[in-house]
Amino acid sequence: MRDLLELAARLGKNPLAIQGPGGNISLKRDGVMWVKASGTWMAEATERPILIPVDVAAVLKGLAAGDPACETCSAFVRRDLCDLPLRPSIETTLHAVMPQRVVVHVHCVETIAMACLSDAAERLAAPLSGLNWAFVPYVRPGASLGRRMAEYLVAGTNAVVLGKHGLVVAGDSVSEAEQLRIEVSRRLARVARAAPLPDRDMLESAQGGGYSIGEDGRWHAIATDPISFAAAARGSLYPDHVVFLGPGIVTAGAGESAADAARRSGRPAVPLVVVPGAGVLLHEAATPAARAMIRCLADVTCRLQAHDPIEPLSPDDEAQLLNWDAEKYRQSLDVRTS
Ligand SMILES: [Zn+2]
Repeated sequence: MRDLLELAARLGKNPLAIQGPGGNISLKRDGVMWVKASGTWMAEATERPILIPVDVAAVLKGLAAGDPACETCSAFVRRDLCDLPLRPSIETTLHAVMPQRVVVHVHCVETIAMACLSDAAERLAAPLSGLNWAFVPYVRPGASLGRRMAEYLVAGTNAVVLGKHGLVVAGDSVSEAEQLRIEVSRRLARVARAAPLPDRDMLESAQGGGYSIGEDGRWHAIATDPISFAAAARGSLYPDHVVFLGPGIVTAGAGESAADAARRSGRPAVPLVVVPGAGVLLHEAATPAARAMIRCLADVTCRLQAHDPIEPLSPDDEAQLLNWDAEKYRQSLDVRTS
């Protein structure tokens, strides 16, 4: 268990693997699956309890029977083993359907930069050749993703790329799962373009009304690199973007202030406003998770290329994420720190 928590903490501090409260890990032992609790941060795995025990056989039985309790899996928590006032991850079912002892789910930016393309399954075939992998087209995280994943697993499948979402690896030990994660990320690695510097004069004239220049220099690539900007402007590329930054991006028009652009979009305190060619402005109420997701957007889009067939989440997909009680709970745990 210690090994698993140390791995979780290490991954949680690697923004190319995990951003904010995203991603999760699990360990199955004696019929109990210890899985990350919803809204907790992997980065804090060695500082506070982040794992919650669930009855894995009951989850699998519920999934097979179409039990709506599988949507949150709260009903399957072994309260006799743990009294934390937390819920299991909304992705608990994807851990349950993998038979291996250890399952690691990451929002690896190398994987997402492939998984957000319409021809992801074909593109993955060459780099992942020789591995026992599967590609699962996008479905909203939760019980439906667990069920969909189960349909794609064959004996020995231990690496699953989730369309428009991320990567799941599994092994009978922590190190086996981690080695596989490193191997898949290495095989899918794409060149991360260096971006032009931000235009601070333009950003200064667009700031105010709660918006100021984004403090992480890497964020500005979303606006200053034309390919990255075009990709970000296509829409939401993966679920946590929608959950923590809202659908797509808000872009300021020529000479328009960030606050005006946000109001025009109907989202007056949207965490991120992009000023094309200049950089990004951050709202003062932006949460730690929102900041982590801005970095993720920069890291994913700088790996995309001009002619990549990007296929963002549909408006229906976005609405499903935003109107889902399980995600509202996770958002509610994302408290602002200043
Ligand atoms: Zn995920």
